[in-house]
Amino acid sequence: MSVKNLALAPARSSLGVAHNPLDLSPEMTEYFHSIQKRLPNPIVEMRNGVCLGCFMVLSSHQQQLVKSEDGYGICETCGRILYYEGY
Ligand SMILES: [Zn+2]
Repeated sequence: MSVKNLALAPARSSLGVAHNPLDLSPEMTEYFHSIQKRLPNPIVEMRNGVCLGCFMVLSSHQQQLVKSEDGYGICETCGRILYYEGY
């Protein structure tokens, strides 16, 4: 009896960055390193108002923060750093 185990790892958009791609402030860089220990992808994109880390819809306030000039925010649900690419 042979069992074919073809369970492949789901193709997840890997932003497996060793360094942060954003121009984070020192506080955010520190935060980045702290969540990096428990989250494999501490920085995710916000798309259509959804955090692509936990797939929860962000509040309009949060969305505005991410879209603000800083260009990033923090997901209230999973704690990941969010960035916005403009679409
Ligand atoms: Zn999230």
